[in-house]
Amino acid sequence: MPQGQVIKTTGNLHLVKCGDEIFECNIKGNFRIKGIKTTNPVAVGDIVDFLDDTEKSVRLITKIHERKNYIIRKSINLSRQAHIIAANIDQAFLMVTLILPETSTVFMDRFLASAEAYRIPVVIVFNKIDLYNESLLSEMNELIAIYTKIGYPCISISAERKINIDALNDLMKDKTSVIAGNSGVGKSTIINTIAPDLKLKTGELSDHHLSGKHTTTFSELFSLPNGGAIIDTPGLRAFGVVDFDKNEIYHFFPELFAFAKDCQFYNCKHITEPRCAVKSAVKSGEISASRYNSYLSIFYDDDEKYRKESY
Ligand code: GDP
Ligand code: ZN
Repeated sequence: MPQGQVIKTTGNLHLVKCGDEIFECNIKGNFRIKGIKTTNPVAVGDIVDFLDDTEKSVRLITKIHERKNYIIRKSINLSRQAHIIAANIDQAFLMVTLILPETSTVFMDRFLASAEAYRIPVVIVFNKIDLYNESLLSEMNELIAIYTKIGYPCISISAERKINIDALNDLMKDKTSVIAGNSGVGKSTIINTIAPDLKLKTGELSDHHLSGKHTTTFSELFSLPNGGAIIDTPGLRAFGVVDFDKNEIYHFFPELFAFAKDCQFYNCKHITEPRCAVKSAVKSGEISASRYNSYLSIFYDDDEKYRKESY
């Protein structure tokens, strides 16, 4: 039975890429994956089997392979159903800039914690380095040191001046990626550089809903010229709003989690408790103060404004 990857889905019709061919497929009415109640049984990025019935112009999907991860959005109505925005993501690129616009570390850390919750590895991309003066460059290097130590690979580029694009291309090769970041950081510019054929309009990628014009856009998977793919999804906004259980937020800050095992109390929240190994590590500088600050900001959920600005 042929196997392919879903590259686009609109209503009941799914486009499935198999080798160099694209097939229109639909799915039996009550096809559901066990365990999740979702509005869409098939999502962009899914690997599916379909009946190769050459008599029919629309093929039938018979199986959805187990997803290695997925991004989900809860519906706002009361049905309690969720919508799967994209599945089988190998990595996310978090694009940030230190100027025009300035990405906050709280925004970065919320995204990183959400990605941890979704089990999606993240590469941090510092863009617009052509605009950085010495003090911004040293600020960037400090951030790179902090995030590399935690385990997040970092890369600095200029999408406009085409600096370090080859390195980014190498990271994207043969992988399925999503690109996230504040509006204006250069996501569309970089896609246009890497895959000129896609001809995305500047400002069109991922955050087009911000303009209020395209509120019903669907996710779509684009193949890249030198292998690999990018899923463009308006749903990345949901990334910032994972509902964290307060007691578990630190699980998604890898360096806090590592120190937490030495806290005196097994249920330490690393806020006011005595003999907290996390707070000691913040004092000694082993955990960065800005990371701990982001942890607190998620804990107290006082970052509404970042969320609204960002997505
Ligand atoms: P998006 O909202 O993340 O898709 O950002 P865009 O790709 O639309 O870029 C926003 C603006 O930043 C555009 O005017 C780009 O020309 C500009 N821009 C993107 N990358 C760079 C860069 O590396 N350096 C400079 N100076 N400007 C850039
Ligand atoms: Zn603690």
